Amino acid sequence: MVQSSLDIQTIRKDFPILNRKVNGKPLVYLDNAATSQTPQQVIDAIVEYYHGYNANIHRGVHTLSQEATDAYEAARHKIQHHFSIAKSHEVILTSGTTHSINLVANGFSSFLKKGDEILVSAMEHHSNIVPWQMLCERTGGVLKVIPMNQNGELIMEEYHALLSEKTKLVFCNHVSNALGTINPIEEIIEAAHKVGAAVLIDGAQAAAHIKPDLQALDVDFYTVSAHKMCGPTGVGILYGKEEWLKKLPPYQGGGEMIEEVTFEKTTYADLPHKFEAGTPNICGGIAFGAALDYMNSIGFEAIAQYEDELIRYATDELLKIDGLRIYGTAAQKTSVISFNIEGIHPYDIGTILDKLGIAVRTGHHCAQPIMDFYQIPGTVRASFSFYNTKEEVDVLVEGVKRSKNMLA
Ligand SMILES: *Cc1c(COP(=O)(O)O)cnc(C)c1O
Repeated sequence: MVQSSLDIQTIRKDFPILNRKVNGKPLVYLDNAATSQTPQQVIDAIVEYYHGYNANIHRGVHTLSQEATDAYEAARHKIQHHFSIAKSHEVILTSGTTHSINLVANGFSSFLKKGDEILVSAMEHHSNIVPWQMLCERTGGVLKVIPMNQNGELIMEEYHALLSEKTKLVFCNHVSNALGTINPIEEIIEAAHKVGAAVLIDGAQAAAHIKPDLQALDVDFYTVSAHKMCGPTGVGILYGKEEWLKKLPPYQGGGEMIEEVTFEKTTYADLPHKFEAGTPNICGGIAFGAALDYMNSIGFEAIAQYEDELIRYATDELLKIDGLRIYGTAAQKTSVISFNIEGIHPYDIGTILDKLGIAVRTGHHCAQPIMDFYQIPGTVRASFSFYNTKEEVDVLVEGVKRSKNMLA
């Protein structure tokens, strides 16, 4: 039984989209690892912005511009406090995790020398592999992979063996979007620092489930996308330690990021503006702040506990289906169940589930190396949020049984 301190039925009323029907059936939304749904409180923040004070920020002397600037900077402070970041200018607002990672990878072009090494985990999202490959091509750096075991856990002895004074950067996700593994980032960060390497943790998947204390973690960079934690698409953050952000060159040139421009030379603005060229996603940033308020009003401890009960229940029920295999059985995992049924293509299962109103993702989940590791074309991925219910898990399990009977 799933018992929880959360009143899920009341919470669900905050999400208008959950009342939708899909193919005549009530929507069962289990694609939260791709993007989460948006509560009315966040939708209201977006509407209020465009109804009341839409203006460009940091530039105008007029009232609307001042209101928009204040709201945007208030959101930056909310983000700062939520993630326990020391200084508000260590919060760089970006378009999301992919943008944040590219910003750092581009900046490291000026530090990395031929033969320097970058370690990435074997369970990275493509957005955390490709920018490093491009960086290595530009600099002659060498990309090395921290391997994982059959459960989808990093093999930490091998990680420690890979570290050396040649290691300049280590990149790893906090939670794997394809397997749900929670990686031991404390140990990863501490060991990397011992050899003088910087660490970037991709928190895109983790931040909806775990409230990290970035100062306590002592991490150098951490990335988040708002749309995976009840916020809008197109906005997120790069957290960077001040000393690193000062060292990194700007990523894009444009308005807002300069102090003084002449045709001979331009001097850059202070942090965070040095990395925030052009008009940002103002409304998105403000709505990200509203999303953090919303999630904190529910409470991350309650969310984690409830989601844990839900995923255990779903795992037990799915495993009762003959021929079903779950990929990603790490001791520490959250919110994601990736699975296949013997002899059936994941896409076919996903198509039948959609007919039943159930939204799951099928395919390689932007993590093709993981699929190669298990020698499969992809998986069906059900990913959960705090607004999902035990009854929805039952609908999923029935749907999977039905797909199996139709396809086997
Ligand atoms: C979603 C996700 C990304 C990419 O995030 P974008 O918002 O598309 O930039 C990167 N890493 C992980 C682990 C993710 O789950």
